[in-house]
Amino acid sequence: MHPANDAQSAETPMAALGRRLAASPDWHAHPASEAVATLAGSQQGLAEAEAARRLAAFGPNQLPAKPGRHPALRFLLQFHNALIYFLLVAAIGATLLGHLVDAAVIFAVVTVNAIVGFVQEGKAENALNAIRRMVSAHSQVLRDGQRRAIDVAGLVPGDIVMLEAGDRVPADLRLLRSRSLRIDEAMLTGESVAVDKGEAPVATVAMLGDRTCMAYSGTLVVMGQGTGVVVATGAATEIGRIGTLIEQAEDLSTPLLRQINRFGRTFTWVTAGVAAALMAFAVLVRGFDWVDALMAVVALAVGAVPEGLPAVITITLAIGVQRMALRKAVVRRLPAVETLGATSVICSDKTGTLTLNEMLARRVVIPGHDIRAGGTGYVPSGPLEVEAGDDDINSVAAAAAILRCAILCNDAEINRREEEWLVTGDPMEGALVVLGMKAGFDFRHVRHEWPRLDEVPFDAQHRYMATLHRGLAGEKFVFVKGAPERLLAMCGGQIGHGERQVLDHSHWEAQVSRAAAEGERVLGFAMMIAADSVSDLQSLRLDGNLTFLGIVGFIDPPRPEAIAAVAECHSAGIAVKMITGDHAMTAAAIARQLGLADNPEVATGADIDGVADSDLPALAARTSVFARTSPEHKLRIVRALQSNGAVVGMTGDGVNDAPALKQADIGIAMGRKGTEAAKEASNMVLLDDNFASIVAAVREGRTVYDNIRKVIAWTLPTNGGEVIAVIAAILFGFTMPMTAAQILWINLVTSVTLGLVLAFEPAEPGIMRRRPRRPDAPLLSRFLVWRLALVSFLFMGGVLSVFFFALARGEGVEVARTMVVNVIVVMEIFYLFNVRYLHTTSFSLTGILGTRSVLVAVGIVTAGQIAFTYLPFMNWAFATAPLGVADAALVIALGILLLVVLEIEKVVTRRWRLFGEEIN
Ligand code: ADP
Ligand code: MG
Repeated sequence: MHPANDAQSAETPMAALGRRLAASPDWHAHPASEAVATLAGSQQGLAEAEAARRLAAFGPNQLPAKPGRHPALRFLLQFHNALIYFLLVAAIGATLLGHLVDAAVIFAVVTVNAIVGFVQEGKAENALNAIRRMVSAHSQVLRDGQRRAIDVAGLVPGDIVMLEAGDRVPADLRLLRSRSLRIDEAMLTGESVAVDKGEAPVATVAMLGDRTCMAYSGTLVVMGQGTGVVVATGAATEIGRIGTLIEQAEDLSTPLLRQINRFGRTFTWVTAGVAAALMAFAVLVRGFDWVDALMAVVALAVGAVPEGLPAVITITLAIGVQRMALRKAVVRRLPAVETLGATSVICSDKTGTLTLNEMLARRVVIPGHDIRAGGTGYVPSGPLEVEAGDDDINSVAAAAAILRCAILCNDAEINRREEEWLVTGDPMEGALVVLGMKAGFDFRHVRHEWPRLDEVPFDAQHRYMATLHRGLAGEKFVFVKGAPERLLAMCGGQIGHGERQVLDHSHWEAQVSRAAAEGERVLGFAMMIAADSVSDLQSLRLDGNLTFLGIVGFIDPPRPEAIAAVAECHSAGIAVKMITGDHAMTAAAIARQLGLADNPEVATGADIDGVADSDLPALAARTSVFARTSPEHKLRIVRALQSNGAVVGMTGDGVNDAPALKQADIGIAMGRKGTEAAKEASNMVLLDDNFASIVAAVREGRTVYDNIRKVIAWTLPTNGGEVIAVIAAILFGFTMPMTAAQILWINLVTSVTLGLVLAFEPAEPGIMRRRPRRPDAPLLSRFLVWRLALVSFLFMGGVLSVFFFALARGEGVEVARTMVVNVIVVMEIFYLFNVRYLHTTSFSLTGILGTRSVLVAVGIVTAGQIAFTYLPFMNWAFATAPLGVADAALVIALGILLLVVLEIEKVVTRRWRLFGEEIN
């Protein structure tokens, strides 16, 4: 045997395939059948077992990940902060001046702070990335001859992939079939005009942008449908070859955080300036020894800046995101968490979001017959009863034409899995298959006998779908289904006894209205016979040539939880608007069932078209149902509502919804039926497509914002109290009530531990009975500023009174300072209980008992304080001294006093409405 031949036969089929793929053949220059023969074997798709082998051989269909920031760098960045620099300089200064213990304490506390920040940040980042992975992209493929949705990462060369409008092309494909397929390849070629795709091979030398029979990974399908065979996956794709990497980490920043960080930076420099001025004053006017003066201003600067605040706020946001994910709302962009709480209008799709999208075809109306279908769900059995017209047998026979049309102009399947009947595809189309089965049609058999030659897919703009078939005797038929008024306009007659009759327009309109008024979704059906020579729909003129067959009415009940959620929105001052492609009367009936309004004001797409941009805001504000709209109307509606000052949440699923989703303050994409394009344009994805999940997310958004306010209201007065006390000491020339190291202990150890509790706070009672917060309301509201001032002074009062009380009794400065630190921490603890409820009294059972995290944090801080006060090592490090029982009792009593005073303040400000709507 020839040696070369020998090597060939020793090569496994997989290795041979790998070799051919590595040579990257010119798939675009050869007929599609060649790619299928080489890669897939048949158009039925790979067998699962073969796909698994290929996945093992060629690896997952993923681009390599961009390396994240190195952990060491991330750790060092924790120190990259003006205050930390300042502290480090102070520590070095203290070392040089011989204050070694102080220096060591500062170093230790700064390091502990960096470690805590590093760990927390890493945790938050991981949590957010895990949540982001909950919405992984899926792709429709044929495996073992069956259509299934698989994770894009599982695609292998040879897979047969189905594309439709809104999909990201999941891998490089050689197209086998395309129907009005247009793909936006800008990300690959830079060409912003979408390219028309086809099946025919092109020249070998064609550039990427001219290879019209290929679909490249990462590009976006903007129109039509197509099927292709995978020729390259992962890094072997064109996009992979130009070295594109996937972004891994989510940016942890939001407008609010940036605002706080900016504020923090300014604040740090102002503090440094004030500190320098005070130091000069202390040395020159008060005659301080300048080493003491330096240690005093270091204490001041350290006391002024809330070191732990940004970390606690980031964690609050991350916890909000996690809670939303538990409620099936996945936040894709962190700022959405803040905006959600301010949402004042939610615009929602009807079908599947407000309703269950469990369709049941209930009514069939054909000329001379009115048939009612019984049964429940997708179980294909149930009586067909005649309400008007002939007897049952005759009516069902007369319905044969419309039922055949309903089965053929249809992509759905019904399959039995164990005891359940499941729909693959659109639920409404599934309901039509079920209807046909109830009348005795075997849908697979019908579809086999009348093979489909071409189709115009349904789109929300035109609201119909058409298919071309070859009949039993070779003749050609067109079947159409769609919005009745749309079809009636295209029909030149209606079906009669054996012959075509004049179209009775007003009769059909009355029938449609009757069904729609009961909340039924109504679909019209039509057909036409085409010449034998016709092979595609594009060459046909449907307008005026179609014959109307009749209508089918479906029921799609409202989601019970959506009814409750709509009511919750109303009590929360959030307007709900239904935006649907459905008929105005159907939409209005469902809106009534949902409690959207007793007598909902309805506007149609045509109404919107007839209104100038300047008049649209008023119309949009008073309308609660928008019917027969196209995706383009959504954009105008969002803009109009926003010009009224509303913060708008808008749902969407199709590729044409993307502009409206981007424009909305919160773009909300459907996780199940939404396209990739819609998900990418959105801030939030609903895993269950459920309206109630939006409302749950809004509630969490309000909670997050409340909690951030609480974190600030709680953290800053500690700093305020410390600063006033230290400044007073310098101005009036008395001994510092605390050392810098002691202030650091309070700000970095106890404050962060206790403050973190507020990040976990559940929603306050009545949170959905308040009006939405105004989007332009400052974070530091008048109420918050007042609170900060009041509590700062109370803290200062506590500090100075115990300090002078102890000194007056003749105690040493160590004891006095220990009492000061303890009084601040005890006040922090009691203030925590007060601040947990900004809107109601804390003197309730839950208010007093707290939550588990409250109790854990209080326990930890108490243990820390006991160590701080009584452990000899801590006494040495922080220059503290043990306290007697009476002093400890005094400290605790001051904490209780603070709580009582602040609860009285709550009652007074609420009773006299001192801050108006701010706290209601
Ligand atoms: P919705 O807002 O209820 O999701 P759609 O945009 O999906 O509305 O549908 C609008 C109208 O288009 C429907 O009322 C129906 O008349 C028609 N329609 C919906 N789906 C199909 C389909 N698969 N085939 C034909 N017509 C359809
Ligand atoms: Mg729909």
